[in-house]
Amino acid sequence: PDLDELARELDHAHVFHSWSAQGSPPQLTIAGGKGTKVWTHGGDEYLDFSSQLVNVNIGHQHPSVVSAIREQASLLSTIGPPIVNLARGEAAKRITARAPRRFHKVFFTNGGADANENAVRMARLHTGRDKVLSTYRSYHGNTGAAVVATGDWRRIPNEYARGHVHFFGPYLYRSEFWATTPEEESERALQHLRRVIESEGPSSIAAILLETIPGTAGIMLPPPGYLAGVRELATQHGIVLILDEVMAGFGRTGRWFAFDGYDVEPDLITFAKGVNSGYVPVGGVLIAEEIAADFDAKVFPGGLTYSGHPLAAASIVAALDAMESEGIVDNARRVGAEAIGPGLEALAEKHEIIGEVRGEGVFWAMELVADRATREPVAPAVVARAKGELAARGLLAFTAENRIHVVPPCVVTDDEVGQAMDIYDEVLGLDLLG
Ligand code: PLP
Repeated sequence: PDLDELARELDHAHVFHSWSAQGSPPQLTIAGGKGTKVWTHGGDEYLDFSSQLVNVNIGHQHPSVVSAIREQASLLSTIGPPIVNLARGEAAKRITARAPRRFHKVFFTNGGADANENAVRMARLHTGRDKVLSTYRSYHGNTGAAVVATGDWRRIPNEYARGHVHFFGPYLYRSEFWATTPEEESERALQHLRRVIESEGPSSIAAILLETIPGTAGIMLPPPGYLAGVRELATQHGIVLILDEVMAGFGRTGRWFAFDGYDVEPDLITFAKGVNSGYVPVGGVLIAEEIAADFDAKVFPGGLTYSGHPLAAASIVAALDAMESEGIVDNARRVGAEAIGPGLEALAEKHEIIGEVRGEGVFWAMELVADRATREPVAPAVVARAKGELAARGLLAFTAENRIHVVPPCVVTDDEVGQAMDIYDEVLGLDLLG
């Protein structure tokens, strides 16, 4: 039988898909992968420049992660959170080893959304306050507080939780503050946040929740001084600073944590995706000692059946060890600086439709515009068409609004970047606006 066709038939008959109307189901089947490449049952190959949902940092089917999962499965496939487990401890040790010195404890979750959910809970319990401030241009996950903390359209049909307030973060290309330099953008965005805090009442605010580098919202690198300024405001008002490193963390930027590149230290760090590249679903909260200490004698009112699942833990240990010993994070930094950045700059020189390229490591966005002068975003149909044309030429793209995000695994090679640039070049040269 044609397995690609069979997979599509079963999917269309029985699978209910995320964030979409069910009448136009997905068509592409993937049966296997290796590194940056994936393929169908029929053998059609694609370069995965999406890393799926920007999570396969170590690449597909890394042999040591696959064998660690296999070994753990044959030893003990599942065990409850109240039972001590060696793999879980080894995973937590490796995660805390990457974090600043105040972080010794990890609360494991099933993914990124419930990591944010529990970080918000900890901040509320720690401060005795209610409100959570987050930016309009953000995505924090699809559960109660996480989706209401999200800034984009996905929040609005889900606004049942109380105590969420949104503000504008820095985004110079489409500045909310009439800024023309990164310094101006940083200063004015901080003044705006200061006014929001004052107006909401500092003593009602439990947390500021920020993606260190907003990901799905557009890969906006924070301008100089911004994160340090947010840290200062949080400290001044006794507000917990939560940095969401779910997408930006564990190698994506060419650093272990994105915030390692900035002068800022959070109080809680949420992670998922890159920590084990999604081979087994997992996420978690890294907890600074002063917040962890609240629960030395007091009960933490939260938990999950699969918290610290042994298959997830074993995959984290293997993924982080391989990323370290194989220099995978360094590769992401180098490829970003030497191949992706220059490649995208060259495309922007050539194609009017590119308004801006920005990013670092393996975390880049191309803004597509109908008009460079007005920066008017292209219509969603233009991006959909570009995505289809890229796939037709063998490249899986991650797109959001008017943007193509260039987000391959951290193991991507210069040669693969070269192939991808040729495909982007060809597709951006089509008359996409016509
Ligand atoms: N936070 C950020 C920054 C994300 O990008 C995502 C997912 O894309 C999440 C949280 C939610 O993670 P999950 O889908 O694992 O719940």
